[in-house]
Amino acid sequence: MKVLVYSAKSFEIPFLNEQIKGTHQLTYLPQRLTAENARVAAGYDAISIFSADLCDAEVLNILHQCKVKFIALRSTGFDNVDLNVASQLDIKVARVPEYSPYAIAEHAIGLLLAANRKIPAAIKRAKRFNFTLKKLIGFDLHGKTIGVIGTGRIGKVIVRILHGMGCNVLGTDISPDKEFASKYQLDYLPLNDLLRRSDVVFLSVPLNDSTKKMIDTENLQLMKDSAYLVNVARGGVVDTLDVLEALDNDQLAFYATDVYERESGVFFYDLSEEGVKDPMLLELLSHPKVLLTPHQAFATREAVSRIAEITLENLNRWEANESAEFEL
Ligand code: NAD
Repeated sequence: MKVLVYSAKSFEIPFLNEQIKGTHQLTYLPQRLTAENARVAAGYDAISIFSADLCDAEVLNILHQCKVKFIALRSTGFDNVDLNVASQLDIKVARVPEYSPYAIAEHAIGLLLAANRKIPAAIKRAKRFNFTLKKLIGFDLHGKTIGVIGTGRIGKVIVRILHGMGCNVLGTDISPDKEFASKYQLDYLPLNDLLRRSDVVFLSVPLNDSTKKMIDTENLQLMKDSAYLVNVARGGVVDTLDVLEALDNDQLAFYATDVYERESGVFFYDLSEEGVKDPMLLELLSHPKVLLTPHQAFATREAVSRIAEITLENLNRWEANESAEFEL
């Protein structure tokens, strides 16, 4: 099958090439998919995209005109694809439902530790030969109450790590896993109660209508002023402006995030020459109470290798005129 791979990043290409095994012809394009470059897909049977690629009704209609039949997502989240329109146009879409929840969960814990123990500031200071500990005091996680919003694959790994660290873990989920909860002493609570009681809140839900901007001013007001918020889900799960306002008003202590609601077309690119124009992103990057990583939670060898493997498996099934195992 001829496949055009949008948003192809140099670090993933060797993993994809390793998985082709003579089955498909992959063409790599570093640019993300938009209406402007969707026509490049003419002559390809399938495209492969990542989370920043735009696959709305307009783009899907262009892809349909270009006779593209399949879209193999290299991500878990699929909020960037209009599945209703894809189905109307008979374009099949499959994703990688799980590659390494450990990669994401471990990064989430890393963000919390970096923020709480002020590791980036300490490193910067030590490099300037300032070895004092002024303003580097954090808090023990042991014994703290930590809320995990979304206890699916990633959330469960976060819960297990926190359980091992001696935290009291709370969870909220539209389909709670009672067996898992009893094994790891996880208390399921309604969202409001979790927000009121938690010293740290992790976000690990998909972005959908029920989770869009679920952390807004109203919910931030329920949280402790001393609370840390960690987001490895999607930028759109929080209202970023509300979060910035809460930080400025000392209603929230810290926001550590791997995602940003307007990250598409920015994250994964080297903009060091041209700079960033988005004022909200600039504010996040310069804010003393914010730590931001550029959607890198999935970036482990194991995760990237598994993404490549499942993406190729999805394409293999379509080529064999079968349904892909992870079709949406
Ligand atoms: P999952 O489907 O296994 O788990 C999601 C959980 O959220 C489920 O248990 C579901 O019931 C729950 N949920 C859904 N809506 C909810 C709501 N309104 N309130 C409470 N709970 C709700 O998914 P996962 O593999 O754990 O991934 C979660 C999300 O993390 C993905 O959808 C993706 O957006 C994001 N993600 C980010 C990265 C990254 O690199 N930062 C990588 C992979 C996934």
